[in-house]
Amino acid sequence: MTGFWMSPIRQWNRHLVDGMNTFGKPVNIVEALADKLKADGFVGIVVMATVIVIGAGAGGITTAARLAQQGFHVKVVEKHGFIGGRCSIISKDGFRFDQGPSLLLMREIFEETFQDLGTSLEQENVHLVKCEPNYCVWFPDKNIIELSTDLAHLKTQIQDHEGPDGFPRFCAFLNEAGTHYNLSLAHVLRKNFPRLLSLLRWDVLKALISMHPWTSTYSRAARYFYSEKMRRVWTFGSMYLGMSPYRAPGTYSLLQYVETVDGIWYPEGGFQMVLRVLADIGQRSGAEYILNSPVKSVLLDDSDHVARGILLENGEELHADLVVINADLVYAYNELLPKTRRSRSLKKRPASCSSISFFWSFDEKLPHLRAHNIFLAEKYRESFDAIFDEHRIPDEPSFYVNVPSKIDPTAAPPGKEAVVVLVPVGHLTSVNGGQLEEQRWDTLVSQTRETVLDTIQVQTGLQGLRSRLVHEMVETPFTWERKFNLDRGAILGLSHAFFNVLSFRPRTKHPDIERVYFVGASTHPGTGVPVCLAGSKLVAQQIVEDWSRAIRQKSRTGLILTVVMALSVLVVSFLWKQN
Ligand SMILES: Cc1cc2nc3c(=O)[nH]c(=O)nc-3n(C[C@H](O)[C@H](O)[C@H](O)COP(=O)(O)OP(=O)(O)OC[C@H]3O[C@@H](n4cnc5c(N)ncnc54)[C@H](O)[C@@H]3O)c2cc1C
Repeated sequence: MTGFWMSPIRQWNRHLVDGMNTFGKPVNIVEALADKLKADGFVGIVVMATVIVIGAGAGGITTAARLAQQGFHVKVVEKHGFIGGRCSIISKDGFRFDQGPSLLLMREIFEETFQDLGTSLEQENVHLVKCEPNYCVWFPDKNIIELSTDLAHLKTQIQDHEGPDGFPRFCAFLNEAGTHYNLSLAHVLRKNFPRLLSLLRWDVLKALISMHPWTSTYSRAARYFYSEKMRRVWTFGSMYLGMSPYRAPGTYSLLQYVETVDGIWYPEGGFQMVLRVLADIGQRSGAEYILNSPVKSVLLDDSDHVARGILLENGEELHADLVVINADLVYAYNELLPKTRRSRSLKKRPASCSSISFFWSFDEKLPHLRAHNIFLAEKYRESFDAIFDEHRIPDEPSFYVNVPSKIDPTAAPPGKEAVVVLVPVGHLTSVNGGQLEEQRWDTLVSQTRETVLDTIQVQTGLQGLRSRLVHEMVETPFTWERKFNLDRGAILGLSHAFFNVLSFRPRTKHPDIERVYFVGASTHPGTGVPVCLAGSKLVAQQIVEDWSRAIRQKSRTGLILTVVMALSVLVVSFLWKQN
């Protein structure tokens, strides 16, 4: 007897019911299923499902590793010749830049992921370096605030702006933010929301009340901090989710809690290192990586309701029992799957911001900058409104400057500095797409470059930046859209507004097409590398459960058929003897 999700001639491997995978290593799902089926009186072989993962981003790589360890036969198909997606690196003449992520937060999720895969960060030689201070926040009046895990250092600075009772208020803020974090971990990151009604669980509803999802992060912070500077310092973090602090649900002060209590970390060798190691772990369990292979569409059966593999841009077909889509979800619904009303409505859902990124190589050290620097605009609120209401580049932008060579000497040649500047801007709309618009953007990008260089010089006192700049690369919303197929160039995927999260976020399983699953920034639980890793656990569990259920159902059906046939033979032979 064969497994349920198996085409008649299976190209890939099969597993004996004894619970061994092709490498002779016992694996959980095979063992568990073998035990269960044996107990059911099943004798024969179980064929593990074949899975294609579209995209080697954080979610795809980790899901592939998890499923491969469970005995599934996994192929990861990636359009680029490198892995990591947004979490990859760009190198030039000995300078190394992180394409996207540079702040490793929620270390516990990374540790848990490695532990789930039977290893650890240490065992895999992933070295995380703690960034101290967390950030240097630069204000237009040249005031500087250093955010840190050092409470004594924080206390002095908070009291300078908030007076003597400022620190206890800060502790109360941190306490609330900690509650947001713990509840989110338990009720959002570790739970799937497969149905609308999943939200109506008593524990979730109770938790929601304490998570303040209906007030903004700025309003929550304003209850604890009275100075405008401190309110800004403790709210700009909503930009990690690509949201305005005036719109982002209060829940997301959890980020400030994580940074203050656990710190900001950086993986030596660049953020992509973590994903390379996770891909290796998956490969050790049999996952295969097929690079430089853009996927054109998901293949469906004649009913158009069951996936049966993928079609590559080069015309080649790859068949599989299951397809996990890690490419941007909105893009996938519109470009890889048949267009529907649902896919069109996804394009109208609120999305995160986009960015202009400058990757700069400097031929000298820049002593005034830290590893992570935030330059806040004087017109703080207006700068967010320009991004989120008008979808444009703010006249005076707030921006983030990352200097990886401050924390990891391998990021630049000795005595030199690698710098990434990230300027959040509005995502693309149908109005600001198009070729003419792209040319207009080129002008805007040049202006932004000058504003950024001037601002850094004026505020830090660093002079002659332009003459020390030996190489520059620039990415714009158009780059994000083309390079990684991110819908509207929204760098953090769909927004995390309340009606875009939990049961309202697009599900990890396609509602109408069987055997299609999603993992990554725009599905549940959401964006950010640790969140995508948490999502990989949820979708892998869902796949294992669905698959096991289908196999058990099939084995039960087989057993019933066998009994019916045996009874029929008995009846026929009895009747024949009577004659
Ligand atoms: C500028 C920036 C800064 C960020 N900073 C941080 C940070 O400091 N910390 C943090 O935790 N997170 C950060 N993030 C967020 C984080 O990078 C993302 O949430 C996360 O990496 C998304 O991973 P994903 O699983 O959705 O996959 P993605 O990174 O979206 O990868 C999907 C993959 O699918 C591939 N693909 C797409 N279409 C196809 C196709 N048709 N065929 C084959 N392959 C395809 C793409 O090439 C890509 O490799 C940042 C993001 C950006 C852009």
